[in-house]
Amino acid sequence: MAGVKKNNLRLKFDSSRNLAPAPESKSIANIADRYDLFINGKFEKPSSKKYFDTINPATEEKLSSVAEANNADVNKAVSAARTAYEKVWKKTSAKERAKYIYRIARMIQERARELAVIETLDGGKPIRESRDFDVPTAANHFFYYAGWADKLEYAFPNKNPQPLGVAGQIIPWNFPLLMAAWKIAPALATGNTVVLKPAETTPLTALKLAEIIQEADLPPGVVNIITGAGATGAAIVNHPDINKIAFTGSTDVGKIIQRAVAGSDKKVTLELGGKAANIIFDDAPLDQAVEGVINGIFFNQGHVCCAGSRLFVQESVYKIVLQKLKDRMESLIVGNPMDKNTDVGAINSRQQLEVIHKYLKIGQQEGAEMFQSSCAIPKKGFYCRPTIFTNVAQSNRIAQEEIFGPVLAIQTFRTEDEVIEKANNTPFGLSAGVWTDKGSKIFNMTSKLRAGVIWANTYNKFDPVSPFGGYKESGFGREGGLHGLGAYLKV
Ligand code: NAP
Ligand code: MG
Repeated sequence: MAGVKKNNLRLKFDSSRNLAPAPESKSIANIADRYDLFINGKFEKPSSKKYFDTINPATEEKLSSVAEANNADVNKAVSAARTAYEKVWKKTSAKERAKYIYRIARMIQERARELAVIETLDGGKPIRESRDFDVPTAANHFFYYAGWADKLEYAFPNKNPQPLGVAGQIIPWNFPLLMAAWKIAPALATGNTVVLKPAETTPLTALKLAEIIQEADLPPGVVNIITGAGATGAAIVNHPDINKIAFTGSTDVGKIIQRAVAGSDKKVTLELGGKAANIIFDDAPLDQAVEGVINGIFFNQGHVCCAGSRLFVQESVYKIVLQKLKDRMESLIVGNPMDKNTDVGAINSRQQLEVIHKYLKIGQQEGAEMFQSSCAIPKKGFYCRPTIFTNVAQSNRIAQEEIFGPVLAIQTFRTEDEVIEKANNTPFGLSAGVWTDKGSKIFNMTSKLRAGVIWANTYNKFDPVSPFGGYKESGFGREGGLHGLGAYLKV
């Protein structure tokens, strides 16, 4: 094979290859100039009379403006959800509920291409990812939970499972449609009604989902989708007539929410940040492991709560792994997210790019050595080259704090005990990855790593059937699977 050296099996990628552009067309994306709030089955003007812009982070062009919900709007949405719960949804048979959820799932599939294009335009992720991951996985969540709606008695035998009432749901910008699906699908299946707020920088696919929900004829008020900033989220959290808060976002805001609901009888699930360890043992299939590391940290520009942002490599294979990693990084195509060849798209916002740049500086000041791929990046828009740090100390901020960008901190280890201790030395506990040929090592590691989700010889695998969630500062409660139902039920 060309480019493969015999002894160390070093795969050389040709980074000079010039692929012809393969841009996805924007024409399918039907984006209105302005979006109102989706309350009680209709799009309504906000009482605040205020709108804010959402832009395309890949070009900095404005896409649309969306309403900013104030306290009065939150009140309206919650009251619509309450009425729909008491008068309609609570009394709707489980089988009927399932029909609506199936219908939403099918409509997401029918409009998959449009949703993928809008997701990429609004958030900057590569079209390949929104097309092949975000949108199909979102549809799958609706399909999966539709199936549970009339089987709750079997899921919780002899426990008389009952809905909670109105759920307030607040989601982040990294997987906008998918996070909306994670939240809405189980809430509806269990008979709750919803007020959902998408993130400021990525409201459009949630608003498209509102259109789908309207078209699916879901009874008015069962799902309300309101846009706004942090204050809108806080108004939802503090609303006295909400029974459950489901939040996905940063640990800092998660702490504020926990304080806000303390002493109330609101049920809460918090899906927060992470700083996952990806661990490569010397007996691992190294090329496969490197591919997993690349996917673990550069998927969605590293804007992934479970990103493998810390890499631990066994000392005996450190050199070769590092070389393979650098070679593979050089082959990543960074740029226009709408191009189907693109591997790494735009950073979600200027603000997030500044956060990442701050950490690149901190890493170098702390004495770590930085390597970035040498690719050119577009002049307009927010971009960051894939980056790794070596010579990282356990105490370095780049090894301790969530960066939420395409930045990997690499350390080495000699023994299993050592790497378990290092990997667990973090305030977070969301996910981890283990790469080894030995099943016994996998069992030992997975039982000792403090993380909610652990992948072995793979990374970033998701399925609606398997629960997802964290320990420690990564939050509590699980989403997905049977566990995800429990979070919306009194038993
Ligand atoms: P964020 O700043 O915490 O925002 C999350 C959501 O909360 C947004 O809709 C935000 O609105 C809203 N918000 C902000 N301040 C609020 C307040 N005081 N009260 C109520 N809501 C408030 O997080 P982010 O930067 O969007 O997302 C990145 C974080 O999400 C990362 O830490 C990542 O690890 C985490 N995440 C976790 C998971 C998981 O499953 N564990 C999954 C994905 C992401 P605005 O957008 O208007 O600020
Ligand atoms: Mg945007």
